[in-house]
Amino acid sequence: MLEIGKVAVIGAGTMGAGIAQASALAGYRVVLYDISEDVLHKALTGIQASIDQGVVRGKIAAEAAEAAKTALTLTTSLAEAAQVDLVIEAAPEIIDLKRQIFGELESQAPAHTIFASNTSSLSINVLAAATQRQDRFVGLHFFNPAHVMKLVEVIRGDFTSQTTLASALAYVGQLGKTAVLCQDTPAFIVNRVARPFYGEAFRLLGENAADHATIDKLLKSLGFRMGPFELIDLIGCDVNFAVTQSVYEATFHDPKYRPHPIQQRMVESGRLGRKTGRGFYEYKE
Ligand code: NAD
Repeated sequence: MLEIGKVAVIGAGTMGAGIAQASALAGYRVVLYDISEDVLHKALTGIQASIDQGVVRGKIAAEAAEAAKTALTLTTSLAEAAQVDLVIEAAPEIIDLKRQIFGELESQAPAHTIFASNTSSLSINVLAAATQRQDRFVGLHFFNPAHVMKLVEVIRGDFTSQTTLASALAYVGQLGKTAVLCQDTPAFIVNRVARPFYGEAFRLLGENAADHATIDKLLKSLGFRMGPFELIDLIGCDVNFAVTQSVYEATFHDPKYRPHPIQQRMVESGRLGRKTGRGFYEYKE
């Protein structure tokens, strides 16, 4: 098993920031990479505020909070980010973009480095094939918010080695999270089960059966913690749409996974959810 000391997170958006925070709090040295300086600084501010809040609430010891803040560095250099034991990619859900990132990382990372993707739905085998290290490639699918949610799907590609799998499981365990081992099927387990939750909600909305807030309220009255539209706003309408499209493609256009035009309209009009301040609901800073 590989001893993981330093972790890089590629992409400092909703998921990348949470994964970096969880990793730093678990004692890893973490380098957070993004193409945008602004995004990196926004992520750092958010992580620091979240850690401080944890201290105030008595969930994080002051010493651990300081250590985590010190352990976290930022970079816009992929070559610098690559000098770690484990790289976790959390860039947009676009297969060509992810393959390009892994291709670049391949030439810059040490031979022992394990590559992982936080993809929600794309094939781990296809991503791994962009590298020369299919045995050191694995899926690590966190849930949103990544520093809070306990579950991580660990996805084994056809060539993922036992050593890589054991190292990934040990890393997830060190974060205090629960790993569930999955095969490389479209959208793995949780997102696959969740597709009809979103899909039927969009159909109901499209047929004017009820407005989005009413649908959310009804689902919550049945015991769901969040309604579908609240959850889509948290995930990001763009991410939700991209995942729906990729599952539809990967299942050879199975009609039950067909995307809905409302998803496209939300993305085209920039109503991406919490991250843009407006989705199905409006959000103040
Ligand atoms: P996001 O849009 O919030 O963040 C993506 C980040 O990637 C942005 O900060 C962007 O600047 C950065 N980026 C763009 N191009 C890049 C590049 N070439 N190299 C590095 N970074 C780049 O997206 P997100 O919600 O954090 O999703 C990231 C990944 O995590 C996706 O694969 C998504 O499917 C997956 N995921 C998302 C959720 C969720 O609820 N949002 C949950 C689980 C998994």
